[in-house]
Formats: sequence, structure tokens, C-alpha cells
Amino acid sequence: MTTRAVWFRRDLRLNDHTALSKAIEDSKKGDELLLLFHIHPDLNKSFHATHDYFFQTLNHLVEHSKVPFHFIEGSLEEAFDDLFEKVDVDYVYFNQDESGFGKQRDDAFLEYMDDKEAEACAYIDHHMHGAQEISKKTGGYYKMFTPYYKQWKQVPKPAVQKVDHEKLEALAVDYTSSFKDGRKAYDDLVGMTEREFDGIGEQDAWDRFEDFIDGPIYDYDDERDFPAVDGTSKMSRFLRTGVVSVRSLYHYIQDEVDFRKNTEGVETYILELAWRDFYNMIYHFYPQSKDQEVVEKYRGLPWNNDDDLFDAWKEGRTGFPVIDAAMRQLNETGWMHNRLRMATASFLTKDLLMDWRKGERYFAEKLIDYDPASNIGGWQWAASTGTDPVPYFRVFNPTRQSERFDPHGRFIKEWIPELKDVPKKYIHDPSKMPENEQEKARCMIGEDYPEPVVDHKTMRDKAIEMFKDQKDGSS
Ligand SMILES: Cc1cc2nc3c(=O)[nH]c(=O)nc-3n(C[C@H](O)[C@H](O)[C@H](O)COP(=O)(O)OP(=O)(O)OC[C@H]3O[C@@H](n4cnc5c(N)ncnc54)[C@H](O)[C@@H]3O)c2cc1C
Repeated sequence: MTTRAVWFRRDLRLNDHTALSKAIEDSKKGDELLLLFHIHPDLNKSFHATHDYFFQTLNHLVEHSKVPFHFIEGSLEEAFDDLFEKVDVDYVYFNQDESGFGKQRDDAFLEYMDDKEAEACAYIDHHMHGAQEISKKTGGYYKMFTPYYKQWKQVPKPAVQKVDHEKLEALAVDYTSSFKDGRKAYDDLVGMTEREFDGIGEQDAWDRFEDFIDGPIYDYDDERDFPAVDGTSKMSRFLRTGVVSVRSLYHYIQDEVDFRKNTEGVETYILELAWRDFYNMIYHFYPQSKDQEVVEKYRGLPWNNDDDLFDAWKEGRTGFPVIDAAMRQLNETGWMHNRLRMATASFLTKDLLMDWRKGERYFAEKLIDYDPASNIGGWQWAASTGTDPVPYFRVFNPTRQSERFDPHGRFIKEWIPELKDVPKKYIHDPSKMPENEQEKARCMIGEDYPEPVVDHKTMRDKAIEMFKDQKDGSS
């Protein structure tokens, strides 16, 4: 008899799951399959929105599965020593991480397993194409997205990894009575969850995706930039927790989309999925990019450290309505529209001249779809310090962004009730309202809604100068 443990991490599903599928495939009648989750203390030192969402999702899986989950806790060594002491495990199957903390943990695990009787079986699963899969014909990896994507499109897409549920239920063992400490650590974390989120678990993800494929995907190229329109898939939270696999989404699109219709929306959507792979690859090859600018010449920029300004940005009190509305959406829901992630990141780094790392850390606390690779990639893009970034001299104008992407101020008014009676003419820059208009709108600037904390034009010039000085100084 052989016992196989399947170690779940950020792949909280029982469908299209490579490690699970392989473990089942490799098992014979009479073998055992043990489903496992490791509560790692380093990942749960703090408890932010992302933890709240993650543990609600995990709990949803545990409660709705017909097969039992086993929890181990403590450092990697402690937890797995405990597992091997209690159960004679022969193989540990898992979907590996290719970047960040997860990669370091997986490298440490493979080393730990070197002198164990059991064998580790690691698979690429979280992305359509792993970090090493798309490379230049001449060798090496791409630093620019466009050629990467050209290559990405040509590489055959992996098939859905079917999970035989009947076999899974027959093989799954229940040793949970031996893992009470782990279960307690897990229950404690679930006990800390408190917020209500829009969409938890596999069924919610598919309901949402089916709706998206039925209509909005065809207009995605046009509508994806308008935060007042429900024009994006909102799959990021589900991809982050792994309740759906990106392979399944991709194949569902191929099967269900009506290719006789305008498919530019569909193509744009697939391109966005490729950005997720691209940033995973970049973080894999630049493991230090969480703390360090990818572009060497922009290391050591003299960022501004004004805590009051940082607080105003965090709390949505900058006096720039679209920025404030976006930050309030983030703080309240744990999600922010992509156009606004770009605008708020640009605002922090170019209008307030603040370190992108501060913003990256703040998003990490607030986003329920927090994905280090995409978040670091997005922040370094906006700060002009990353691979293939926005050039430093193309500074977003927050008022112009607002006029273009929220022309009627609908999104602004949804998140900033104090501006709800402000006429369209002033909604993008209420500080321009004459006093009688302020009275009519019951919104006195400086009292009900702040004056702009900075002058965009002045800050734009300063930002360009800061980058130019740094560039010239380092050349
Ligand atoms: C500063 C900044 C920080 C970001 N932080 C994160 C993050 O922590 N986690 C995260 O998942 N995304 C992040 N993004 C990317 C993007 O904003 C979100 O993936 C997107 O807004 C999620 O909403 P959606 O699922 O409706 O996206 P859709 O528009 O429906 O896109 C579909 C999927 O494609 C992927 N995707 C789309 N755009 C990007 C992108 N620019 N980079 C990487 N993947 C992308 C996501 O997995 C997304 O779910 C960040 C972008 C910026 C500019």
C-alpha cells in the first residue's frame, strides 16, 4: 500500500488540479490519499483582508468537500516531521510556486525531503505557462511584454487536468483525529475572519465567469477601462486563491465563445491572462524586485516621506475625486479596478513622489486578490522603475484620467457621497467650484471635501526632474 499526500496551497479546488490529478492517476486500488494543508506561521503573522478572504475560501472548500482535509502547523520542518511521524507517507504531491515566499518555501522543502524516505512530486499549475516555459529563441527570458506575448500565443496550451472524483473519494483517508493541533490552528484563523465578500469559492467563480462569457467579454476591449461599468471578469480573487484554474478559464473561452462575433474583446482578455504569466516570470527572474527597482539606474531615488500625505492617499482624502473614490473602493471591498490601480499608483509615485514600495505594501494589506508578482509588476510599471514600464516623462494626469474614464462621475459619486450633488462640470475637480455652487451642492471645499493636496502640474515637473537627475547622475 502506498500513501500519497496532496499538499494544497493557493489552489483551493478539486477540479483541474495538476498535483491532485497526478496523485490519483498514480494510485492503485487500496492506496491512500491524504489531503493536506500547512498552516505556516510566517504567512499568518498579520491578518489582513487577503487573509480574511483566503481563509473564508479555504473553509468553503473544507466544508463543501466530501473528502477530509488534514492540517499541520508550525515551521516547515516541525509540521512535516509531525506528518511523517503520524502517517507513513510515501509521496508528497504539490503545485509549486515559482516566485517569492512560496518559491523559497518550496526550495527549502525539496532540500528537507532530500534525506527523507518519502519523495516530493512538484508540478507547474498556477499559471498557463510557467516562468521558464516562454523563452527567447536565442536563449534567455523576455523583458518586454509584446515579444513575450507573441511567443506565448504560439506555445500550445496545456490541457485541463481532469480529477477523477469517484476515485478520489475511494482513496481519501481520514486521519484527522491525529491532527488536532493543526486543526486548532486552522480553526483559530477561520475564527478571525469577519468580513463579507462578493463571491467565495468555485461555484461563485463559475457563475461570475459564465455571465462574463455570455456578454461582457465581447466588449471587454472597449469597456474594461471604465470603472463605473461592470466590464471586467473579476476573476483575480478566484485565480489568486485558485478556486478556478487559469487553464479551465482559457478552455472554457475556446469552447463557449461565439467566434462569429467581434472577438477583439476576447483577444484582449486572453492578453490580460498572459500579463499574469509575464509578471510571474519577471518575479521569478528578479526575486529581489519586491524591495528593489528592476532598472538599476532608478535605485536610490530621493522619495518623499511625508506621512500626512501618505495617510491622505490611503484614506481617500487627496482632493482628487477619482483617486479618492478608488482608494475607498479598495479599503471597503478589497478590490480596485485596473485603470484605477494604475492611476492611484501613478498618483502616489509621481504626484506625491512617494516610494512605490509603500504603495505596494499598502495594496498587499488591502487587496483580496493580492498577488505579489502582479502587484510588484504593476507598481514598478507605474513608478517607471520596472521591466517594460510607463516612461517616467509620461505622467498620468489624474483629472484627465477621471474625465476620460469616468466621464459622468458615476464611479466618483458611488464612492464619495459628499460629492453626490456636485454638477458634472466640476465633478473631476470640485475645488474649481465657485462658492455659490459649493453651497448649492452642499459640499464646501476644505470642509466637506478636501482641497487638492498638491498641484498636479508642479508635481509632474518635479517628478520628471527627479527621474532625469537620477538617470543623468547614474550614467
Ligand atoms: C499597481 C497595480 C497593482 C496590481 N496588483 C494586483 C494584484 O495584487 N493581484 C492581481 O491579481 N492583479 C493585480 N494587478 C493587475 C490588475 O489590476 C488586476 O488583475 C485586475 O484589476 C483584476 O480584476 P479582474 O479580475 O476583473 O481583471 P480582468 O480585466 O477581468 O482580467 C482578467 C485577469 O487577467 C489578469 N490580469 C489583468 N490585468 C493584469 C495585469 N495588469 N497584470 C497581471 N495580471 C493581470 C488577472 O488575473 C485578471 O483576473 C495590479 C495592477 C496594478 C496597476
